[in-house]
Amino acid sequence: MEKVVIIGSGPAGWTAALYTARAQLAPLVLTGQQPGGLLTTTTIVENFPGFPEGIDGYELMTRMQKQAERFGAKTSFGSVEAIDFSRRPFTLVVEGETITAQTVIIATGASHRHLGSPGEHELENKGVTYCATCDGALPVFRNQPLVVVGGGDSACEEALYLTRFGSEVFLVHRRDSLRASRIMTERTLANPKIKPVWDSVVTEVLEVAQGKVTGVKLKNLKTGAETVQPCAGVFIAIGHLPNTKLFSPPITTDENGFVVPQQGTMTNVPGVFVAGDCADHVYRQAITAAGSGCAAAIDAERFLTANP
Ligand code: NAP
Repeated sequence: MEKVVIIGSGPAGWTAALYTARAQLAPLVLTGQQPGGLLTTTTIVENFPGFPEGIDGYELMTRMQKQAERFGAKTSFGSVEAIDFSRRPFTLVVEGETITAQTVIIATGASHRHLGSPGEHELENKGVTYCATCDGALPVFRNQPLVVVGGGDSACEEALYLTRFGSEVFLVHRRDSLRASRIMTERTLANPKIKPVWDSVVTEVLEVAQGKVTGVKLKNLKTGAETVQPCAGVFIAIGHLPNTKLFSPPITTDENGFVVPQQGTMTNVPGVFVAGDCADHVYRQAITAAGSGCAAAIDAERFLTANP
């Protein structure tokens, strides 16, 4: 019987593991299909405090894992196939094996929604990115035209952020009005560096043959007109898909699938806690995920003391 099982191995999962390990709870971390989480797909992380030169995303996650394991965290490179939260101890099936747990911390993160256009996948990290905060300041984007795709708050935020670096920012949206909040919409449309491209979709990211982004093919959905917009970067901000399908129900989520904590980090199921991007559609940073992992660990520890 495990005292704490942590599902997910991003910054939230490893920080929860570090804290519960130091509390001598010997947590078991289930890494999932992508050990280290989304951060391992970015190159240099420049906004995680403590690394003035920046740190490679993969290395940061490896260091977090080592730190947690040093205090007794156990790692299993498996994915959860089934889960029963109807009674404590909880039951999880991992790669065909049954595990029982007194508490569970869900830290499964979220995945970027993808366009599915040709060139998008091939040019990921070669000009195609899903995080302006992570990558916007890279030299390759400086004083270059940039494209942001999407019409929500994220797309507006990314576009506004990128005006610091790009020569101009083309905001490509499939409709003729933004979904974003009024204040973000006004701020975005008032910025002289941001040029909205309405009613349009990216049909291809160019240029796979060159191994870098040189532009996007656009199609106007109203007129059918096809154009090419040269750019050095494509920032895709069309929403996130929280990795919570396996838990809901019974775990309460909002209409977009993000877990809704009820008390601190505890979910509607006592003994099940949540941390990181699977419960956060606002901040979505490594450091905020790590912070919530710490909080979930402390909540789980207190729960175990009160409910041995
Ligand atoms: P979102 O609100 O769901 O917006 C996604 C945008 O992408 C929509 O404009 C949507 O177009 C477009 N889109 C979706 N699939 C597409 C596709 N396949 N091709 C082209 N366009 C596509 O997602 P979000 O902007 O990430 O925001 C998520 C939540 O976080 C929201 O509640 C938001 O308010 C919140 N948030 C808040 C802040 C803030 O307050 N500062 C910042 C970021 C996020 P349609 O409009 O046509 O559907």
